Amino acid sequence: MRKRGVTVGRRGADGLVPVHGNLLPEVAAQLQLGFDSVLNPRVDEVTGPCFTAGNQDDRDEPIERAADQRTHAQRQHDALAVLLTAAAASGALPTLGGAAPTLVVTVRQEDLASGRGHANLPGDDEPISLAAARHIACTGAVQRVVSRADGRIVSIETLDRVFNHHQRRAITARDGGCLIPGCRVPPQWCEIHHVEEHSRGGPTHTDNGVLLCWFHHRTIDSGGWRIRMIGGVPCVRGPSWWDARAKWRPATKSPTRRRDAIAERM
Ligand SMILES: [Zn+2]
Repeated sequence: MRKRGVTVGRRGADGLVPVHGNLLPEVAAQLQLGFDSVLNPRVDEVTGPCFTAGNQDDRDEPIERAADQRTHAQRQHDALAVLLTAAAASGALPTLGGAAPTLVVTVRQEDLASGRGHANLPGDDEPISLAAARHIACTGAVQRVVSRADGRIVSIETLDRVFNHHQRRAITARDGGCLIPGCRVPPQWCEIHHVEEHSRGGPTHTDNGVLLCWFHHRTIDSGGWRIRMIGGVPCVRGPSWWDARAKWRPATKSPTRRRDAIAERM
């Protein structure tokens, strides 16, 4: 009991923060349960990708597995991020100064406008990238403060950036989980991605929001997958190893929509 403890270290030269500690077995078990619920969800799911059109183009399982090249440790890291975000958004955490714990990301106005520069997290002198700040801001557990070079506060995060519960439920019914083929993260652990970026005028509308897991949300600009809304329907284009023809394909993990698509083909 005396030896229990967790320490969060200082950010190293590689930009990463070391975490060390000794957990009591029941705490470790709870953490593992949390990881498992994010990584191996026991949900009623059909395996494999599903496209609402062009079934003959579906890819097989081996190629799908290659879609997730993260190590076990990396997957657990991402699962921890999901659990922390979900806890902060649940409203069940103790409040700080009357409000739920909120990660405040500060960005300079000119950096935000130019898309370059950095943002800051509280209690950390080292800046983070604007891309990282943008992803955090999509989750809704964040308040964004934009300030001028002289320190004047220009704006605080506008609520319309965050999809509300009604929109989230509608998007969940349509997408059913992370949209990336082969990814099994269920909707409750997904974030809503603005397909057209909010800072570039993309509206917070169901026609512009899709479900992505924590990992795919953060790698959507670099991972080779592309998402586009075609007539309000989410479409995915895969990297060349997955689809040599690089076609846009309507995608969903929604059980209802998949059943409908199968019925239509028969
Ligand atoms: Zn995913």
